[in-house]
Amino acid sequence: MSVPAGSSSSNRMTRLAAILPSNRLLLRPEQLSAYESDGLTAYRSRPLAVAVPETTEEVIRLVRFCHDERLPFVARGSGTSLSGGSLPVEGGIVIALNRLNKILHLDPAQRFAVVEPGVINTQVTTAAAVHGLHYAPDPSSQSICTIGGNVAFNSGGAHCLKYGMTANHVLGLKAVLASGEVVSWGGRSREQIGPDWCGLFTGNEGLFGIALEITLQLLPRAESYHTVLAGYRTLEQAGDAVSAIVASGLLPGAIEIMDALALEAASAAVHAEYPPHCEAVLIVELEGPREGVAADRLRLEAIIAASQPVEARPARDAAERAAIWKGRKSAFSAVGRLSPDFIVQDGVVPRRHLGAALRQIGELSRAAGLRVANVFHAGDGNLHPLILYRGRQPGELERAEALAGQILRLCIKLGGSITGEHGVGVEKRDYLPEMFNPDEMDCLQRIRAAFDPLGIANPGKMFPVAGAPALHHSGLHPLEAAGVISRE
Ligand SMILES: Cc1cc2nc3c(=O)[nH]c(=O)nc-3n(C[C@H](O)[C@H](O)[C@H](O)COP(=O)(O)OP(=O)(O)OC[C@H]3O[C@@H](n4cnc5c(N)ncnc54)[C@H](O)[C@@H]3O)c2cc1C
Repeated sequence: MSVPAGSSSSNRMTRLAAILPSNRLLLRPEQLSAYESDGLTAYRSRPLAVAVPETTEEVIRLVRFCHDERLPFVARGSGTSLSGGSLPVEGGIVIALNRLNKILHLDPAQRFAVVEPGVINTQVTTAAAVHGLHYAPDPSSQSICTIGGNVAFNSGGAHCLKYGMTANHVLGLKAVLASGEVVSWGGRSREQIGPDWCGLFTGNEGLFGIALEITLQLLPRAESYHTVLAGYRTLEQAGDAVSAIVASGLLPGAIEIMDALALEAASAAVHAEYPPHCEAVLIVELEGPREGVAADRLRLEAIIAASQPVEARPARDAAERAAIWKGRKSAFSAVGRLSPDFIVQDGVVPRRHLGAALRQIGELSRAAGLRVANVFHAGDGNLHPLILYRGRQPGELERAEALAGQILRLCIKLGGSITGEHGVGVEKRDYLPEMFNPDEMDCLQRIRAAFDPLGIANPGKMFPVAGAPALHHSGLHPLEAAGVISRE
């Protein structure tokens, strides 16, 4: 996306330097290199500068500066995006929000917390725990990702099956839009009048502006948990067990599946012991009032027994429950032990097609000659195929990307979506028009333009860019080979 230039570059840098002290305006190559990539490490690009504000006032001044200068900006939390959402825009600035990390207010009686965008997800639950409360959305990256990033991506997690995604927990928002306007939406409770602006903003992938303060709903911690780990000979059997649990009317807090390759990685990383000779492991967690969990537990045990697992192990205490979740939540990073390079895909299929989708992913993987590990939120049909490749082998990244694209098309064909929780980012932007028709795409673009008329907030993300290469690989990119871009 081309944005008309503002003032000359030296005037521009003088204006920028007036907003932040020099130690919080990073300009040197060695300072910028840490921000060149995000969780999608195959790609990188260098920004003009990284601004590190400490107050909302500074963020507002930075956005207004970018608006006046027609300068692209990318908001950044912890940079754990797996779709290239926080990849810098070359020639633009990164606004790093980690220092806005205060919990401004926590009201245990009304059950809400007001937080700055750089607060880490688990810190909200840690602060709420002394009051018997917690913040429900629990991405596997929750110990490092920020609430601002969660809002931008409408992030989910294992327990979102029961509690819903981030959008279901945002009560209020203060944000600076890309136009420089500051807005306050929603409030401190669910009972509000007027349009659901918070719902519209949540999931915007940084394309509307920057969230400055977020009011989050807190929920009482469950009184009791019952967590079961069941091993199956085949992935399909595990998938059938999921269908049986859902069909029974039980609503567990989480239903997750890991396949053999993911189990191999998790076992090596956290020394977890999984049932031997299993192609898949199912994790089901019931949670809620003690009597309800006790009753549901009997129904769950009967369903799992009927699904003929190799072995089913209920966690006997909190330590065993924590160990089960540690294995599951470390699975993405653990796959790095099997292959230094991998793409984490994020597609959704209707639950009834889970078995067919997994079977076809296996076929596609074999045809491509690339290993795929599957770790996923089975309860809501949210697949996370991890495609293993060797980045140093010429052409292998491109083959991995082609396979990722085939998997996304499979999800669309089965009536699902190209993203469940990781967003579209740059990674999947070319597939968006395959999911939405031209009228719907036009509608999405017009909504974006209403918040960001100049197209300066995170340009190049979510929407396809005509003629642009899909991504700038960290290997030798065609534009780099042609001398158009440089990483020096
Ligand atoms: C090991 C691992 C496991 C993961 N597991 C999960 C999972 O279970 N569920 C899940 O949903 N995701 C998961 N993710 C993806 C990622 O952690 C989430 O998308 C997370 O919400 C990103 O937060 P962040 O602070 O790192 O944001 P960043 O990566 O810094 O930014 C993400 C997007 O948010 C925008 N943004 C950041 N802050 C703001 C703000 N204040 N206002 C407006 N826009 C903003 C950025 O511009 C960018 O588009 C995982 C990632 C990793 C590496």
